[in-house]
Amino acid sequence: MKGNKRKDTKPELLLRRALRDAGFSGYRLQWKVSGHPDICYPGRKIAIFVNGCFWHRCPKCTLVMPKHNSEYWTQKFKGNVSRDAKKIADLEELGWTVVVVWECEIKKEPDIVINELEMILSDFDYKV
Ligand SMILES: [Zn+2]
Repeated sequence: MKGNKRKDTKPELLLRRALRDAGFSGYRLQWKVSGHPDICYPGRKIAIFVNGCFWHRCPKCTLVMPKHNSEYWTQKFKGNVSRDAKKIADLEELGWTVVVVWECEIKKEPDIVINELEMILSDFDYKV
């Protein structure tokens, strides 16, 4: 699995179900656009990334750096974070609206996440 993006993570599945429940089905997964967003609405150019807190270094969580090989981890995380930033910049340049949802937000405050996404999606008058 090295280098491969993990698909169908638990937070992603939760979010997809919540989106369907809210009436926003019609999303596509791993759409072939820069960064292959986890969930997206190609017609409205909305891309949603569901980020695992540990790997993507969530700003909301207090994350400790692993003690062993801390040099390795520092570089590894730096790479992940800068790749994430590049994906977002590329998409925005192409006219996409990019939303990053953190794993912890989906777990702790799913209603807030869904409300925010609903507002964004409604702005685009998106209904199936
Ligand atoms: Zn987090």
